[in-house]
This record gives sequence, structure tokens and C-alpha cells, in this order.
Amino acid sequence: MATEFDEIRRKLLQQKQELLTRAAKVHADIIRSSGPLDKDFAEQVVQMENDAVLAGIGEATKQELAQINRALAQLDQGTYGHCSSCGQPIGARRMQALAYSDLCIACAEAAG
Ligand SMILES: [Zn+2]
Repeated sequence: MATEFDEIRRKLLQQKQELLTRAAKVHADIIRSSGPLDKDFAEQVVQMENDAVLAGIGEATKQELAQINRALAQLDQGTYGHCSSCGQPIGARRMQALAYSDLCIACAEAAG
């Protein structure tokens, strides 16, 4: 049961990890350019989801991260895969292409 979602969850967690790693790198660059290297960097990597770190990444990356977190929460709640606008199933093909999509194709196109 729910094996198709296991794959999607794995993909989402991987994407999330990549985004957080990217955020940590940007954060490290900011620290380096504005002062001495932070000794607690390793600890900060663990706590990467705080606003101070995420401030170093772009708005698009932040939104992507938020969408991934929401999709993961929906997977836990069993509401994953349904359009947040019209409530219809989004469709396996679209979920495969964009695992954290929360709009069906019709609503996404209507929203522009
Ligand atoms: Zn819809």
C-alpha cells in the first residue's frame, strides 16, 4: 500500500536536503564575506531551517522548500495528491513531474 507515495516522499526528502545544503553553502559564503568563519557552522547545518540561514537563499528557493514541507505534511496526513483549489486528484503524471505541486493542471493554468 502507498508504494507510489514512498517513492515521491523519498524524492521530496532528497530535494529538501539539496535545498538545505545549498542554503548552508550560501550562508557560509555570507559569513565568510562579512567576518570570520563561524565555528559553530556544523551545528548551524543541523539547524538549517531557521530564518537566519534561509535569509541567505533566494525567495524562489525558500518557496520551493515551503512547498516541499507542505507536500511532506500532506503525505503524513493522507491528503497528498489532491488539488488545494478544486479538491480533485492532481494526477500521477503531474505529481511525478512536480512532486510538490498542490494544484491540478486546470487550476495551475487558470492561476497562470
Ligand atoms: Zn484544481
